[in-house]
Amino acid sequence: MDYKKIREDFPILSREVYGKPLVYLDNAATTQKPRCVVDAISDEYYNANANVHRGVHFLSQQATSMHEAARKTVCTFVGASNTNEIVFTRGTTESINLLASSLSKISNKNEVVVSVMEHHSNIVPWQLNGFKVKPFVDLNDFESLISDKTAIVSVAHVSNVLGIQNPIKDIIRIAHERGIPVMLDAAQSVPHMKVDVKELDCDFLAFSGHKVYGPTGIGVFYGKEALLDKLPPYQGGGEMIDHVSFSKTTFNALPYKFEAGTPDYIGSHALAVALDYISSLGMSSISDYESQLTQYAIQQLQSVEGLKTYGLGNNVENRCSVVSFNLFNEGTLIHHLDVGTLLDRLGIAVRTGHHCAEPLMHYLNIEGTVRASFSFYNTTDEVDMLVAGLQRIRKMF
Ligand code: PLP
Repeated sequence: MDYKKIREDFPILSREVYGKPLVYLDNAATTQKPRCVVDAISDEYYNANANVHRGVHFLSQQATSMHEAARKTVCTFVGASNTNEIVFTRGTTESINLLASSLSKISNKNEVVVSVMEHHSNIVPWQLNGFKVKPFVDLNDFESLISDKTAIVSVAHVSNVLGIQNPIKDIIRIAHERGIPVMLDAAQSVPHMKVDVKELDCDFLAFSGHKVYGPTGIGVFYGKEALLDKLPPYQGGGEMIDHVSFSKTTFNALPYKFEAGTPDYIGSHALAVALDYISSLGMSSISDYESQLTQYAIQQLQSVEGLKTYGLGNNVENRCSVVSFNLFNEGTLIHHLDVGTLLDRLGIAVRTGHHCAEPLMHYLNIEGTVRASFSFYNTTDEVDMLVAGLQRIRKMF
């Protein structure tokens, strides 16, 4: 990979903050956008903007073609069988809310098994829809939690806090042996590795456009067609209907049954441009580079006295672009907020806090962490700047 050239694709990376070069290490929260994605948004608004699906006129048909072509791009990108399996949503959060809400209407089981590493968006939607959430730490736990009340297993592919992968192949195999479907929260995996829904054999999958170099406000909900067919609609409105009368409404075919209202057709097109962009770099090159960079970061961070990185059990090596840590001075914690604020003054953007994973914080018995998360546009020089910054902060305390 030609990092110099890649960085030129992301204009924001050459800006300064506080008179210092920006070191952007908050990619798990959102990624920066390549010029082609930003251009795709303005180009469509300037040249092809019209509401999709219902228009007979030229622009509407052009916008519709672009929107449906985007669905095809997503379909190919995740290896789905056909475009009926690709529903556009606002993001991972909405995708999981959709599933939790729809499933609650047809399931006579009320438990969901999740991992201890879940983001709140894979906990709260289940609770809101009447499911009891049962967390597991490892595979032994996992098996013991499955019961005849389990409606679904819903797990993060990669933790947004620890960067660790759940043993997803085993989870899916075990769940399927018991006839239980699996929902994969792929918000933190799709940007970093090849994710193929057929190869994984997951039943549902969600990810967010903005974490995969696309725009905010667009995301994807994948489901096996036969399962999506059985789920009732999530929201009501235009697009999702077949016929409406005051006494009865019939619903549209897949995937439109789940897409009430005007879709984010500008966002879907820009997301497709983002997926094409990372495909052109190559998902395996991205994975290789990012895992080398993450290993380099883990190694270099060890040189900072009093720094503790977090994993789960023995699993500290198998990281995917995310490192969480805290800094201690002779055993006393330097608050993550102080560390993040001081790093910011050095131009280094990291995230601090519970990272929308309070149950994991409880499990680790901590209040929060400092999280550095990497992209293929980050460099070892930037890791060195992070390490130098932390060394400086430690001396200040
Ligand atoms: N799941 C995971 C693992 C995440 O990291 C995030 C965001 O950080 C989400 C879900 C929610 O994503 P969004 O806010 O884009 O819906």
